[in-house]
Amino acid sequence: MSGTPSSGSRVLPRDVFELKALAERQPELAPAATLQIDLIEAIRRVQSRITTPWIETSTDTLAERLAHGQPLLDFSQIAFDWNDVRLLVRQVTDVLRRHEVIDAATAAALHSVGRSPTVPDVMRGWFELKPGLDIEMLGEVLGWAARPYLQRTAEVLQQRVSLDGWMRRVCPVCAAEPEFSVVTTSGDRQLVCGRCHVRWAFNPIACPYCGNDDRTRIKSMATPDGVYRVMICSPCGRYIKALDARKATRPLLPYVDLIATLPLDAAVMQSLR
Ligand SMILES: [Zn+2]
Ligand SMILES: [Zn+2]
Repeated sequence: MSGTPSSGSRVLPRDVFELKALAERQPELAPAATLQIDLIEAIRRVQSRITTPWIETSTDTLAERLAHGQPLLDFSQIAFDWNDVRLLVRQVTDVLRRHEVIDAATAAALHSVGRSPTVPDVMRGWFELKPGLDIEMLGEVLGWAARPYLQRTAEVLQQRVSLDGWMRRVCPVCAAEPEFSVVTTSGDRQLVCGRCHVRWAFNPIACPYCGNDDRTRIKSMATPDGVYRVMICSPCGRYIKALDARKATRPLLPYVDLIATLPLDAAVMQSLR
């Protein structure tokens, strides 16, 4: 069970292994890597006992949705176990508090979300990208709590319908923005969803956030070994990082590569100053 191709992020031991190695290799990244490991461990227990969801939508309907530019997944199709979600919200909050990412007051507010009977409504608002409660890190906490369910559902959907024709700026499964990208061995680009880790093809030179494809207004930087790259878009001021599969010695591991590229984020901030 190592390195499954598409949404291989469920193969968590590999992520944890690589994060530990990263922390040893680059001690300045150890705090971020340890936090990431603790978050992964928090969702792993739930992840291991989720059953495969049953999607009633026919393959034709799914293909039709994609053809019309409509992402595949509706909130009602995600088989959340709300007791586990509540537990995850509290556990993820505890991890963030232990690592001093949030203060005690924020942790208390997040805990009360976890205990509240309105968790499904809060989660729906988050999934449908509607602004909700104004609590620091709430989106991140809900993202971690939802991830086991979202990822499993995304895997099932991907077995049912091909995402090949989808070249849009948002995830074909859950409609979220990309968080990372991969330059494939053939030089094409795949975007990686920040929520469900699904990948899809996208114009290699355009900005996935605003659509700008004027090369002269996109700046690019890379790590000295060329393994990671970043594209910075001037019109919208946003940037996306990438793993260059032509230089990398392993496939993308979203949990790990996000942390491994923190120095690149710092370099981008520096260049924007
Ligand atoms: Zn997604
Ligand atoms: Zn842009």
